[in-house]
Amino acid sequence: MIRVLRSGWLTTGKEAIAFEKEFAEYTGSPHSLAVNSASSGLMLAMDAFGIGAGTKILTTPYTFVSTATSARHLGAEIVYADIEGDSYNIDPEGIEQALSADPDIRAIVPVHIAGNVCKMDEIASLGTQYGVPVIEDAAHAFPALTRSGYAGTLADAGVYSFYATKTITTGEGGMINIKDGERAQRISLMRSHGINRTIWDRYTSKTASWEYDVVAEGWKCNLPDILAAIGREQLKKADDFFRKRKAVAEFYTREFAGRDWLELPPDGPGNAWHLYLLRIVPEKLTIGRDEFAEKLQEAGLGISVHFIPHFEMTYFRQRYGLDRKDFPNAAKQYDATISLPFWPDMSAEQQERVVRTVLETGDAHLKRR
Ligand SMILES: *Cc1c(COP(=O)(O)O)cnc(C)c1O
Repeated sequence: MIRVLRSGWLTTGKEAIAFEKEFAEYTGSPHSLAVNSASSGLMLAMDAFGIGAGTKILTTPYTFVSTATSARHLGAEIVYADIEGDSYNIDPEGIEQALSADPDIRAIVPVHIAGNVCKMDEIASLGTQYGVPVIEDAAHAFPALTRSGYAGTLADAGVYSFYATKTITTGEGGMINIKDGERAQRISLMRSHGINRTIWDRYTSKTASWEYDVVAEGWKCNLPDILAAIGREQLKKADDFFRKRKAVAEFYTREFAGRDWLELPPDGPGNAWHLYLLRIVPEKLTIGRDEFAEKLQEAGLGISVHFIPHFEMTYFRQRYGLDRKDFPNAAKQYDATISLPFWPDMSAEQQERVVRTVLETGDAHLKRR
């Protein structure tokens, strides 16, 4: 970052280009495009596949808001399919039902919740069968897809987030991986006002630096070099971060195993371990998730709940007439889930304290059998 500040070139330029190249190499993607957030990345990726007014995207209610709002910015509507009974990820069966019922769905947007990879083989083949692109919300998934050998190859595009809490961060930022070169071009254009030359190109090229044309109605979503430089350093640490998060997850899972009032996080090949989502079994306890979470908070644990499903939010509920009864799996998971404190450099004492507090809280509120 100091290097960038000293260079005097703060906005998008050679650092961003280098970050894109290194990210593409790491993930095995033919094209990587740096953007200022995953939210704008999702919008740009959807736009590149023709999502807009009169079309719909298919996703789940169990995700962050911007999976849906990025489509709304384009004028598209959202169709929701429930998640699987035993994971937080979209159910391929629900995808098939939705696609066969609604020809206006023009993209499938699976979300790898907590870093646990969706059933991408099934989802990709449904995409092919119905002629609908698969755009991954991969905000939690770096470096999952790489490690599972998917390398983004099953989806048509994947969008990563470098928001402050994500597995690698630039403070704010994101990256779009996409297979198709023409669509990558479109994204490159649309992320900078629809201007047909990048600022870097105008600065470095021998031809008239002031000359450019606007060829489409674009946005401003470029990643500045200050942040790209941070991203390049984070990328070097990604393997180390991953190994440490995985070790914490394994410790938690070992310590929590065997309690019938707890359910361990779903875990499949290539899990990036972005979050550790522990579920209580409310029927076995005298307190529900809210009270359980409060007690952990009172004991000083920095817990959270991911995610509040869209059917619990006024805007989505009203716009789409959502009802939690129509999403029994998402409702059930939401009512049981707590995100535990979880970061790469947690000390052994910190991890042990989390485990002890969770176990003591549950053991103190067991239903009598
Ligand atoms: C964080 C997140 C996003 C948005 O990422 P930003 O980079 O903050 O825009 C999108 N989808 C999911 C599932 C996320 O968790």
